[in-house]
Amino acid sequence: MRSYPRPSEKFIFVKKDDAGLVCPKCGSSDVKKYPVVSEGGWWNVTKCQRCLHSLERIRSEHRLGAITTISETFRA
Ligand SMILES: [Zn+2]
Repeated sequence: MRSYPRPSEKFIFVKKDDAGLVCPKCGSSDVKKYPVVSEGGWWNVTKCQRCLHSLERIRSEHRLGAITTISETFRA
């Protein structure tokens, strides 16, 4: 059984990747891709960081987000 130690950082943040896109609503180039947990589970979203417009929202293939269960590794 894995154990997950308490983070040593005071605050933890999700890693957001630069999408390299321009927001169609406000024109900002600060558009990021990152996972979020919301109604219905985990989603991979592409959102403007200035106005929070969603450019894309795709259901994550991982039911528990960053956590992979042993049963998910059994897929052929
Ligand atoms: Zn925007």
